[in-house]
Amino acid sequence: MDRVLNWIASHDDEPPYLLVDRETLKEKISLIGKGIKNSKVFYAVKANPDIEVIKYLNNFNIGFEIASEGELAILSQLNVNPQRIITSNPIKTFKFLKEAVKYGIDYYAFDSQAEVEKMARYAPNKKVYVRLSVPNEGSEWPLSKKFGVEIEEAVELLIYAKQKGLEPVGITFHVGSQCSNIYNWHTAIDKARQVKELAKKAGIEIKMLNIGGGYPIEYTKKVPPIETIEAKINALLEEYFPDTDIFIEPGRAVVGDAGVFVSRIIGKAKRGNENWLYIDVGVFNGLMESIGGIKYQYIVGSRGEEKHWTIAGPSCDSFDVIDKEVLLPEPDVGSLILILAAGAYTISYASEFNGFSIPKTFLI
Ligand SMILES: *Cc1c(COP(=O)(O)O)cnc(C)c1O
Repeated sequence: MDRVLNWIASHDDEPPYLLVDRETLKEKISLIGKGIKNSKVFYAVKANPDIEVIKYLNNFNIGFEIASEGELAILSQLNVNPQRIITSNPIKTFKFLKEAVKYGIDYYAFDSQAEVEKMARYAPNKKVYVRLSVPNEGSEWPLSKKFGVEIEEAVELLIYAKQKGLEPVGITFHVGSQCSNIYNWHTAIDKARQVKELAKKAGIEIKMLNIGGGYPIEYTKKVPPIETIEAKINALLEEYFPDTDIFIEPGRAVVGDAGVFVSRIIGKAKRGNENWLYIDVGVFNGLMESIGGIKYQYIVGSRGEEKHWTIAGPSCDSFDVIDKEVLLPEPDVGSLILILAAGAYTISYASEFNGFSIPKTFLI
C-alpha cells in the first residue's frame, strides 16, 4: 500500500487508472504451483492482458494460456516461445486456430466433435485435451454451463480425436473463477481419474491433466489460502495422477491482488434514505465483475462520519451501480477512492461506453 500511495503522490496522472504492483506479481508467481508436484503454470492472459504486465510476467519461468488472436498478438510481440503457450478455449475461431498453428503452439482444448473436425483440418497432429464438465458451486464467476462434457462423452471424444489424426494427451476442467469451495477440485479430479481409466482401456494414455484456474483472492470475504488448496489438490493428484504432467492456469490469483484502481469521487447525493457516491470508474469501464457479485474493498482518505453508501459509476446507465451498503467515512467530492484487489478482470472487461475512456494501467 505504501508503494501505491507513494506513486500517487509523485505523479499527476488524472484518474481513473489502475496501478499494478510488480512485487505482488512476483510473490504470486513464486507461490502458485509450488505445492503441486510436476506442475507447470500457464497464466490465463484474459485476466489482465496489459502489455507491461505480460512483459513483466514473461521474465519468470511460467507459460501463458490464451484464447484468441488478440492474445496471441501480444505474446508474439514479445517473442514468447510457442512451447510456453497453450490454448484452453474449447471452441476456437478459425483465424485464431490458423494463427496459433502457424506460431507453433502445440496444445489445444476441445469438447465437441465439431471442434475435433475443425482441428483435424487446421491443426493436424496437434496435442489435444478434452474439457470435462465439473461442479462450479461456490465459485463467484461460474464457467461450467458453456463448456465441458460428461465422463463418457469425454472418452468418446478422445477416441474420435485419435481417429482423426490428432494426438489426445490430456484432460482439463475449470472449477469456476473465484472458487473458494475446495471440494470442487476434489470432484473434478475424481471425474478426471475416471476419464483417464476409461481412456486407458481404449488405448489412450493420459499424460497431462490441466486443472484450469479458479484460485480465489480476498476481496471482502475470507477465502482459503492457495497453500491449503494446493495441499489438498496435490494429495489427490499424487494418488490418482502420480506420473502425469499437471498444468495450472491461474488468472485472477496472479494479477488480482496486485492491482489497485485509483478513482476520483465525482459526485454525492441523497436519494430517499440512500447515500449515493458517484466515482469515475464503473461497471462499464472497469468494474464489470461487480454485477456478478464481486464486492471490492474501498479506501478513502476522509475522517468524516461513517455512513453506508451506494457506489455508482460515471455513465448515464442505471445498470452502472457497483456496490451497495458500503460503510465508509464521508469523503469530499474531488477526493480519491482506492479500489483494492482490482488487477484481474477489470481493464480486460472495460469498454468506452458513453464516452468514458478505459483507464490506463501503470506497472509500479
Ligand atoms: C478464465 C480461464 C482461466 C483463468 O481462471 P481464473 O479463475 O482467473 O484463475 C483458466 N483457464 C481457462 C480455460 C479459462 O477460461
